[in-house]
Amino acid sequence: MTANNHKPIRWEAPKAKFHKEALERCTASAEPDRRPKQVTVHGPCPYCFGEVNFVQVLQLVHSLPGAVVGQAAGPTTLAVTVRCDCLQRHPGRPTNEAGCGHTWVVTVEF
Ligand SMILES: [Zn+2]
Ligand SMILES: [Zn+2]
Repeated sequence: MTANNHKPIRWEAPKAKFHKEALERCTASAEPDRRPKQVTVHGPCPYCFGEVNFVQVLQLVHSLPGAVVGQAAGPTTLAVTVRCDCLQRHPGRPTNEAGCGHTWVVTVEF
């Protein structure tokens, strides 16, 4: 993936356009065998087309003692909020931030 079509939109621009077609080129995958479990998202940001390499470490919560314990049948779908972390320039971005300041939600199965 190249950054040739990167859009240098203003950081957290409230009217940034959401490009659905970029999302379709994005891959989100869960790595349930990893410790700790994590979800990785790679591909173009749907707002600025910058290359995103997002990793979300899953924090699994233990059941309370006495609570009903059970495994869901079939794959579990998880919604993950991805934050753009592209390394391209965005006007107005704080120096300790990356990306265009936008977030979106992807769903992964595992
Ligand atoms: Zn972005
Ligand atoms: Zn960007």
